[in-house]
Amino acid sequence: MDCLFCKIAAGEIPSNKIYEDDRVLAFHDIDPKAPVHFLVIPKEHIACADEITPENSSIVAHVFAVIAKIAKELDLKGGYRIVNNCGVDGGQTVGHLHFHVLAGRQLAWPPG
Ligand code: IMP
Repeated sequence: MDCLFCKIAAGEIPSNKIYEDDRVLAFHDIDPKAPVHFLVIPKEHIACADEITPENSSIVAHVFAVIAKIAKELDLKGGYRIVNNCGVDGGQTVGHLHFHVLAGRQLAWPPG
């Protein structure tokens, strides 16, 4: 499968890695939209949030636990935003489930 984030998860394409375990990888976004902007992805290929099922959904809880751990390590005391874009209208550009974590400035609401 020709998936950019599968290749990053497999180490075939380099990334600026923050955290890794057997199920997830966190790395800095190549085009940051905030002073802190990293992505957390499952290593398993799940195309988007629409493909989360009772069978694979435990990965989402793990992603959120990893985000909380990284946020403590990066000392994101001011808070942060977790974003998941799903599908064309959601603004998804990479077809592998990923959660953006943005921090380091006051973020606007609602997003555009
Ligand atoms: P999406 O628009 O929600 O699908 O987010 C995809 C994100 O992946 C964007 O913020 C991109 O900047 C980021 N991105 C694309 N290619 C790479 C890469 O090779 N390394 C790190 N981030 C990437």
